[in-house]
Parts: sequence; structure tokens; C-alpha cells
Amino acid sequence: MELDIDILAALADADDEIRSADRKRKAARASVPNSEKARDEAAQAVADAKQVLATHTETERANQRKLKEYETFVMRANRALETGAGDADAAEHQRVSCIAIIDGLETDQLELMELRETLEATLAQRQAELVAAEEVVVEAAAACAPEVKVQTARLMAAKGDAIHLRSKLHKVELLRYDALMDRNRRPVSILKKDTCKSCNRVQVPRAMQEIKRGRLVQCAGCGRWLHAPDLVEANSDFAGQEG
Ligand SMILES: [Zn+2]
Repeated sequence: MELDIDILAALADADDEIRSADRKRKAARASVPNSEKARDEAAQAVADAKQVLATHTETERANQRKLKEYETFVMRANRALETGAGDADAAEHQRVSCIAIIDGLETDQLELMELRETLEATLAQRQAELVAAEEVVVEAAAACAPEVKVQTARLMAAKGDAIHLRSKLHKVELLRYDALMDRNRRPVSILKKDTCKSCNRVQVPRAMQEIKRGRLVQCAGCGRWLHAPDLVEANSDFAGQEG
């Protein structure tokens, strides 16, 4: 023989348990998304460093092409001067100015090589950071796994209890129960002597009589069902009707 108020109180306990397990499971998992975000940022940094290096390679190649071009001009000028073909002054002028440009391009080339070393070191650093960030993700997932498992088991057990308890209740009571839950209110309050523990409203004597008989009584103050298992008289008439 079970009283409806006892079933409702047990259901409220099961729902407390569900909320608690759900909250703890989410908290346990919280460290993983953080590390995943850091990992994604590290991956983006690697992609950015690669892009910068690719652009730099293009610049180096363009510089090398120019260098070859001017070396060809110098060779042609030299040949013209050797063979005596064409305008010797013009060829000499071209040779001198091309050599000056080549000097400049070679200086650029050296600077570009130094910059390449810096960019390659940056890329290597970013790649090392990505590896470390990936390890943190794996560690975070592994670290929270046992706690997630425990809380999931709690959650499943409490959900099972809640389903079982709900099957014992009438539809009208369940509707009211869910309405209170939807308003973020625990639907059952403990009665301390004659006072609702949730809202401190003192219950009238008639309500106290009903409670002692094991009947469902809502608090006049907050509307929660009042639960006082110690007050219920063992041979109450109402209790005998349950089954
Ligand atoms: Zn109350």
C-alpha cells in the first residue's frame, strides 16, 4: 500500500537526482569543449603560418626569375662587347646597369632567405603547439570519462525510477506535477510540524487533519504538495483505499 503523496515525494526526489546528475555530467564534460576550442585555434594558426610561407615562396621565386633575366641581359651585353656587334657604348651601359640591379636582387635574395628561416621556425612552433593542444583534448576527454560514466549511470537510474513512479500516479496529479516543474518549482515540500518548509506558510488545522489521513494537500502559500510521512496515522481511512 502506497500513498500518492509518498509516490509524489519519491518522484520529486528522482527528479532532483536527474537534475543533479545532469548538471554534474555537463560540468565534467565542460573541460573538453574548452580544449577543443584551443585545438581549433592552434590548427588555424598552423594554416595561417603555412599560408604566409607559401606567399613568401612566391616572392622568392619572382625574385629568382628577375635575377635570371638580368643575368641573361649581362651575358648578351658581354657577347655583344666580345663580338663587337652593335653599339659598344650601349652594350657597356646595359651591362653596368644590369649588374647594379643584380646586386640589389642578390641582397634581396639573402634577406628573403633569412625571412624564410624565421617563417619556417614559426611554422614548426605552431605545429608543435597544435600537437600539444591535440594531446590536451585527448587528456581532457579521458579525464572526464569516469565522472561522465558515473553521472550517466545516476541519470539513467533516476530516469528509470521516475518512469516507474509516474506510472503509479493519476493523470491529473501528473499534469499538476509537471506544471509546477515547468515553473521551476519542486512540486513537493516537506512539512515541518505545521509549516511548509518551502514558503513557511503555517497550515490551517483542517489541512493538518487531511495530511494526517494521508491525503494530498497543497500548501496554501506555494501550492506544493505537503509531505509529512511521520504525521500520517497508520490506520487512516484514506490509506486503506489505496492499492
Ligand atoms: Zn508552501
